[in-house]
Amino acid sequence: MKIFNTESMQLEEFKPITPGKVSMYVCGPTVYNLIHIGNARPMIVFDTVRRYFEYKGYQVNYVSNFTDVDDKIIKEAQEEGVSSEEISERYIKECRKDMEDLNIEPATVNPQATHEIQGMIDMIRTLIDKGYAYVVDDGTVYFEVDKDPNYGVLSHRNLDDLQSGFRQIQVTGQDQKRSPLDFVLWKPKKEGEPYWESPWCEGRPGWHIECSVMSRRYLGETIDIHAGGEDLVFPHHENEIAQSECANGKEFVHYWMHNAFLNIDNHKMSKSLGNFLTVRDVNSHYDPQVLRYLMLSAHYRSPLNFSADLMEAAKASYGRMVNAMTNLDFHIANAKTEGLTEAEQKTLEDAAACRKEFEAAMDDDFNTADAISAVFDLVKVINTNVNEDSSLVFMNTLKKEFMELTDVLGLIVERQSAASEDEAARIEEKIRERQEARKNKNFAKADQIRDELKAEGIVLEDTREGVKWHRE
Ligand SMILES: [Zn+2]
Repeated sequence: MKIFNTESMQLEEFKPITPGKVSMYVCGPTVYNLIHIGNARPMIVFDTVRRYFEYKGYQVNYVSNFTDVDDKIIKEAQEEGVSSEEISERYIKECRKDMEDLNIEPATVNPQATHEIQGMIDMIRTLIDKGYAYVVDDGTVYFEVDKDPNYGVLSHRNLDDLQSGFRQIQVTGQDQKRSPLDFVLWKPKKEGEPYWESPWCEGRPGWHIECSVMSRRYLGETIDIHAGGEDLVFPHHENEIAQSECANGKEFVHYWMHNAFLNIDNHKMSKSLGNFLTVRDVNSHYDPQVLRYLMLSAHYRSPLNFSADLMEAAKASYGRMVNAMTNLDFHIANAKTEGLTEAEQKTLEDAAACRKEFEAAMDDDFNTADAISAVFDLVKVINTNVNEDSSLVFMNTLKKEFMELTDVLGLIVERQSAASEDEAARIEEKIRERQEARKNKNFAKADQIRDELKAEGIVLEDTREGVKWHRE
């Protein structure tokens, strides 16, 4: 398996620290409003990475944080006249709902920054003791970038270039910094802000320290994969490396993975452009699986465009997968023969070739775009070879192939939860009523039933094997 490592800027063969196990940390959202579709891209991409590791037999320890102390949360709380905690708890709940809709597997742990303050104080103390951090008069603790010879290793920046760039920016209140690049580990409270006791002042942690601490606590000092959006490479991940490696004296991360930006109608998403879209907005118009499908239709390191046209195209493509499964299930339910024929045996070899193609794509730095093509090759095999004469073994084998591949992508192609089984039974009943009406030449009633179902988005199809239905 090859992974593109942002640090080496190369494809590298994946070698886990512990055979059969993967430790993975994904920077999570700051919870001050509903997540936008830009937040959803890393969630979906790295969930798929995790699923593929699991498919390959790895046990994945997957940690993703919620940043629940931050200026934006405090601002939102002040505007609403409620506590910061109320804001963050509300939006953590909403975020979990969106993640569930997008079929994102629950993380092993979702640590929250405010529950990990003691760990942050401990790491900051170590950094001060080892001479990598200093305290100024008002109690602010800074990390001293000059003390870390490796600084810039991830973002491939040279310290001198960085400093000349930053020297232009004079930040008020930060004139006690030894270098403009030094960043905050701990800062004093302001009026009305949440704060914690610390050896330096009553205050709160800087943003970067939380991920260093939570990654160490839940995954250990050195981990396999750390991931996030490419906007996090600098300064967030660069600073995480500095903190963790200086505090622990060990390599922090073996593989750094970053997904590219998401644009809307070829523009950067922003509130001021009025093209700011939440996951909830999109999912109120589409099956959430369509958004997931769209996100996986491009390679994670390529910029992805979001538009109404692309969503319609994604809906149609995903619909073809669902229809293939619906038809397969129909034939399985009505199978007349058990044993595999010679021709079927040959077709199963074609299906196995699709799986190989899928795995080759995923092994190549998780190329989900090509993996989706492989799934469609399998859809074609199913659609052209499955019919009323197909054997049960044949169809069940195809179904297993199809389910396993679409599961890696996290796409739910089979709609058979308990709720949808009841739903299917209700629709079947309606179809029986309609058949009955037709038999009695009550065509008005038959048409009425068909129209009612159509209004629900259910399309009936008369076939040799009886009436079939599928969703539009
Ligand atoms: Zn982070």
